[in-house]
Amino acid sequence: MNYSATTLCYIERNGCYLMMHRTKKENDENRDKWIGIGGHLEFGEDPFDGILRETREETGLLLESPSYRGMVTFCLGDELTESMHLFHADRFSGQCLKDCPEGELEWIPKETVRSLPHWEGDDLFLDLLDRSVPFFSLKLVYDREGTLLSHTLHFCGEKRDPLLISACLCGQRCRYDAGIRPLSEEILDGLAKRYVLIPVCPEQAGGLPTPRIPSEIQPDGSVRQRDGTDVTETFLRGAEETAALARLCGAERALLKERSPSCGIRERYDGSFSGKTIPGMGKTAERLLQEGVRLFSEEETDRL
Ligand code: SF4
Repeated sequence: MNYSATTLCYIERNGCYLMMHRTKKENDENRDKWIGIGGHLEFGEDPFDGILRETREETGLLLESPSYRGMVTFCLGDELTESMHLFHADRFSGQCLKDCPEGELEWIPKETVRSLPHWEGDDLFLDLLDRSVPFFSLKLVYDREGTLLSHTLHFCGEKRDPLLISACLCGQRCRYDAGIRPLSEEILDGLAKRYVLIPVCPEQAGGLPTPRIPSEIQPDGSVRQRDGTDVTETFLRGAEETAALARLCGAERALLKERSPSCGIRERYDGSFSGKTIPGMGKTAERLLQEGVRLFSEEETDRL
């Protein structure tokens, strides 16, 4: 049985993460996978010392004020337990190397990272890195073959409950037209005092770009874009991703944008693209309801 303490940093530039393809070291449990930058802590180092040194040695970059985001406990069968100090950084200097003794380095668009060979549980903390969540402790338990068996997540020192919230209500430009229609600052501040806000855009999570052609749910339950393209699968994928995020964070409530084909909870457009609304739910709202999440629209923030 081995125990080790390591660091891992996701360095971001222009929407890309600096990733290492681990191809060079023998007996590397990360062999052939793509991961961020980091390595074992050395005697006498704290996590900041470790990540600054590892980044300098592996990439040639000097990090400035990396953000310490969480602790990931990685358990592999009964062979290995690793405490991984997780960082994010978007300020650095120096010239990036192309490779190092452990693998090749490449800037990979954030939306592509998950399509490369990686540990399944990495998706969970990559999701958290993308959101302004408090410091977290995430435990990932794998069997010997590397299949993820379970995970647990705690937001450290946090007494507020998590609240899933449509990202456009927080001012993120994720609407189909890339416009914004956020809640007032006063309402958002009030909510943030009571909840850890977890913004999510199901349509982006499902893989749709922004801006995008608007979509509406059709009378037969499918989802089509205004040009007739069937995007039902993409909407269902976004709903699944959002449900997975709710489970990961332990969110029992969600505040969603009314009338959206994903987020609407009481009304939606009727499928004719004429602006007419009918009673009904969006695909993500339906999925969250199945998960037992309590749904609130932006018109009823006073109930939260
Ligand atoms: S899918 Fe939901 S979060 Fe994304 S833009 Fe539409 S209403 Fe907002």
